[in-house]
Amino acid sequence: MQALVQQLEEGQVWDLEVDVLVVGAGACGMAAAIAAHDAGAQVAILEKRERPGGNSSLSTGSVPGAGSRFQREAGIVDSPEVMVADLLRLSGEGELPQLTRRMAAISAELCEWLVDSVGARMALITDYCHVGHTIARLHAPVSRRGQDLVDDLLAAVATREIPLATNNPVQVLYLSAEGAVVGVAVGGAGVQTSRIGARSVILASNGFAANRELVKQHCGEIAGAEYFGALGSEGEAVLWGRALGARLANMQAYQGYAAVAYPHGSLLSWTTIEKGGVLVNARGERFGNEDLGYSAYARHVLAEDTNVYAVFDERIMTLASKEDEFRELVEHGGLKQAASAEELAALFKLPPQTLAATLAAFNEAAAGRAPDPQGRARFGMAPLTGRLWICRVTPGLFHTQGGLAVDTEGRVLREDGSVIAGLYAGGGAAAGISGRAGAGGYASGNGLLTAVGLGYLAGRDAAAKVRAGAAA
Ligand SMILES: Cc1cc2nc3c(=O)[nH]c(=O)nc-3n(C[C@H](O)[C@H](O)[C@H](O)COP(=O)(O)OP(=O)(O)OC[C@H]3O[C@@H](n4cnc5c(N)ncnc54)[C@H](O)[C@@H]3O)c2cc1C
Repeated sequence: MQALVQQLEEGQVWDLEVDVLVVGAGACGMAAAIAAHDAGAQVAILEKRERPGGNSSLSTGSVPGAGSRFQREAGIVDSPEVMVADLLRLSGEGELPQLTRRMAAISAELCEWLVDSVGARMALITDYCHVGHTIARLHAPVSRRGQDLVDDLLAAVATREIPLATNNPVQVLYLSAEGAVVGVAVGGAGVQTSRIGARSVILASNGFAANRELVKQHCGEIAGAEYFGALGSEGEAVLWGRALGARLANMQAYQGYAAVAYPHGSLLSWTTIEKGGVLVNARGERFGNEDLGYSAYARHVLAEDTNVYAVFDERIMTLASKEDEFRELVEHGGLKQAASAEELAALFKLPPQTLAATLAAFNEAAAGRAPDPQGRARFGMAPLTGRLWICRVTPGLFHTQGGLAVDTEGRVLREDGSVIAGLYAGGGAAAGISGRAGAGGYASGNGLLTAVGLGYLAGRDAAAKVRAGAAA
């Protein structure tokens, strides 16, 4: 097996040279490429898989922006300080606290940049705040499909004539004698190896959720859950980082999802639970506090020794139907409905009396007449009333949040805090902002915020370096 990091040989000739080389064509990679290009650099993107998009395509495309003009237009008062307080309340101080503050500080600018410069069809979500946010600040495609955001990024890349080569896995990073990253080798099955020199390399190759061994090593508590993300997240950035002596941070943090529709494999929108639905096991009992949110609650669903079901009412189902993926799940028969708790139970052979008693106790709590047996405090539109809907769900691992430690421009850091010249990382390749461990620190949008945010910052910084070099 060839070494992941190699010293540049004397007189090595590159097959191609660019100012900025981006590894991975998800949201981070494309944001980085667009930002670098618009700041005057010559850029190319290499993508391992046959299609660009990665996890970004599978996401709901939600990016938080605190103090954006879209919030102001909606009469919502927000600020980076409030956002930092929200994020830290959930995550605690992670290993890179300055990153959370930096991401919040640029979040509004990012959402506006996505709309104004990239041309992304995004709007502020005002229906709900989602996990971790006390203010409506998520900006997302109207369809809530990450694929729309990816398509808009791809269109912006194409308009700018930035070369994007798919089926081109980057395998090796090259180091100069001074220890700077100066290029890569691209190759793999059926692809002739080529060497590309670059003044800066931006790692936008996402995390390691598709690498079972790395998940076991770092996120053992969720290793038993199925991975529902894109196959490209095989952890190269972590492996390169180890070989380079880079610092890794927040490695035990991840995003889980408590309610992947079974057997369809699509997300059951968490709106269904947040707005008043519950999760029950095959004994018809709730088994925890759903207020924990879709990420942290995944571990609890995984720990159940029976099948698990989401139950909510017709009003909630109508609200969630605004989301394309949810509507499709309904159209494909992923949900069932009934007039009463007893009839609903019969659909999946749950004990009818227990389910009815569980829902009755929940409704009493939601109406404020009794404490919730599981300690839930937020009930959305509950008490549940009228026709009821049910969906079998399984827990999933969506992406890992740990990765390469970076400074506030996305530059990769060594163990001793020094910068590895020529190397940037963003998105899942970099350490995230969801705390040090587990899924409880993940607030909605943390994944795409560091993807688009660090990509944007890294691209601009790498381009500035090129300009400075040209002027010198
Ligand atoms: C179902 C689901 C829903 C989600 N919903 C949200 C949400 O609404 N909001 C949010 O913030 N986050 C969400 N996330 C998380 C979010 O998708 C990720 O955090 C984000 O997309 C990461 O972006 P990225 O650009 O770093 O990675 P990706 O989008 O995965 O892009 C990385 C790309 O790099 C490529 N690559 C990997 N290795 C190499 C290599 N060696 N050479 C060349 N290319 C390589 C991959 O093939 C991939 O195309 C969700 C995740 C999932 C799975």
